[in-house]
Amino acid sequence: MNPLSLLPSVDRLLSDPAVAGLIDIHGRAVITQLVRTALADAREAAHAGTPLPDTAGLIATVDAAVTAQATPKLRPVFNLTGTVLHTNLGRAPLPEEAIAAMTAAARSPCALEYDIETGERGDRDDIVSELLCELTGAEAATVVNNNAAAVFLLLNTLALRKEVIVSRGELIEIGGAFRVPDIMKRAGAKLVEVGTTNRTHLKDFDEAITPRTAMLMKIHASNYAIQGFTHAVPESELAQLAHAQGLPFVVDLGSGTLTDLERWGLPHEPTPRENIAAGADLVTFSGDKLLGGPQAGLLVGSKELISKIKKNPLKRALRVGKLTLAALEAVLRLYRDPDRLNERLTALQQLTRPEAQIRAAAERLLPALQSALGTLPVNVEIVPLKSQIGSGSLPVDRLPSAGFAIRPQGKKSGVLHRIEAALRGLPRPVIGRIEEGALLLDLRCLSVHEETEFAAQLSTLSRPGA
Ligand SMILES: *Cc1c(COP(=O)(O)O)cnc(C)c1O
Repeated sequence: MNPLSLLPSVDRLLSDPAVAGLIDIHGRAVITQLVRTALADAREAAHAGTPLPDTAGLIATVDAAVTAQATPKLRPVFNLTGTVLHTNLGRAPLPEEAIAAMTAAARSPCALEYDIETGERGDRDDIVSELLCELTGAEAATVVNNNAAAVFLLLNTLALRKEVIVSRGELIEIGGAFRVPDIMKRAGAKLVEVGTTNRTHLKDFDEAITPRTAMLMKIHASNYAIQGFTHAVPESELAQLAHAQGLPFVVDLGSGTLTDLERWGLPHEPTPRENIAAGADLVTFSGDKLLGGPQAGLLVGSKELISKIKKNPLKRALRVGKLTLAALEAVLRLYRDPDRLNERLTALQQLTRPEAQIRAAAERLLPALQSALGTLPVNVEIVPLKSQIGSGSLPVDRLPSAGFAIRPQGKKSGVLHRIEAALRGLPRPVIGRIEEGALLLDLRCLSVHEETEFAAQLSTLSRPGA
C-alpha cells in the first residue's frame, strides 16, 4: 500500500470541525488553498523520509499559516528606540483630535473640494491654507504629499532649466534617498554651489548670480551640525540680496515647528514664521516631523509664487488625500491654543515628558520585565538615557530620559540579540536598540495608558534562547 494514501483528502480535512472553524473566520478560499499546500508539503517531505503528519498536525500547520497571513503588515509597535520622530516607525503619532477627524472623513463623503456656502467646486488646499497663513504669517499656502515633493515641486515650477544657488554646507542627504543635488536634477534645475563646506559669505552668493539664476535657496541643515570655524549668511541678508536682483529667496526648513519650542525647555528650532519675517518668499516643511501631524509637505509664502506652484500639473500628481487633510486641519487647530499644545499634541507631549515621569514608569514596569526574562543570564537595571527628537531635527541636542538596560552576565552578547528578537516577535513588537553591549529600552514614548498592555504581553515572551 502506498503510505501517502494514509493522508486525508482535501475534502475530508475541509469538513473537519476545527477546519470549519477556520473557514468561518478566514473564508473558504484561503483555507482550501492552505489545506492543499499543507498536503503537498507533507507528500514532498514524505518522499524525503519525513514521517507523515496526522490530521491534527496538518490542521495545526494550516492554522499557523493562516494566522501568519492574517497578521497585518502595518502593525502598531512600541517605539522604545529613544528616537521620538522615528522615520522607519512612521514619525509623529497623531493626537486624538486628528484621529477622530480622519475616521469621520474616511467614513462619509466630505466637502473635500466643494464650497458648501456657494455649492460650487472648491479647492482642497482651502481646508488648511487659512490656518497655515495664520500660523506662519504667510500670504498663501499649499499642501503636497511630503516635504521632498514640496521641494521638488517648487524647483520644477520656479527653476526649470535655470540655476539655483545653494551654500555648499547645505547640500544634505536625508535618510531614505533625499539628496538635494539629485532632487534638483530631477526637477530640471541646475545646482550652483557656493562657498565651502564650513563657510559661506554673502559675496559668494552675489558673485554667483547670473541672468540664468532662478532663486537663492537655503536648506536647513537638519540632520547634522557644522561646528567650529563656520559662517553662514543670515537669511535676512540673503533675502535682501535676492530681492535686489528681482529673485525669490526660498527656504527648505525640513522639520517645521509652528511654535516656540523653548517655552517647554526644548532647544530652539527655526519656524516658518521666522523665515517669512526674515524675507523668505517660500518656505517648505514636513507635516509629520516636529509639527506632529500626518505625512505632508507644506509650502507657505507669497501669493504670487504659491499660485504659480499650484498651476504646475505636477501639483495634481503630488496632492494629498482627504485623510491627510482631515488630520492636518485638526493638528493645525491645536496650534491656535499654544498654552495647552504640550498636553494635546502627542508628539510634543512625548518630547516634553519629564525625566522623572519616565523613570517612574520604568520603576512600575521593572518587575514585569524581570519576571519575563526569568533565569536568562542577563542583568536588568533602570538607567538614565538620552532620547533624540529624530527626523533630522536638532541633531546635537538630546533629551534626558530613562529606561532599561539589559546586559549579558558573561562576555557573550548573543543573548541580547535573542532577547531583542523575542521582543520584536511579540504581538505588538517592542523595538529597542543595542548600544555598547546593552539592549536599551527607552520608555519616553510608552504612554501611561499603554503600560498595562506592555506589561501583559511581556508575560507571553517566549523564553528567548530556551
Ligand atoms: C526631512 C527633510 C526633507 C524631506 O522631508 P519629507 O517630509 O521626509 O519628504 C527635506 N529637507 C529637509 C531639510 C528635511 O529635514
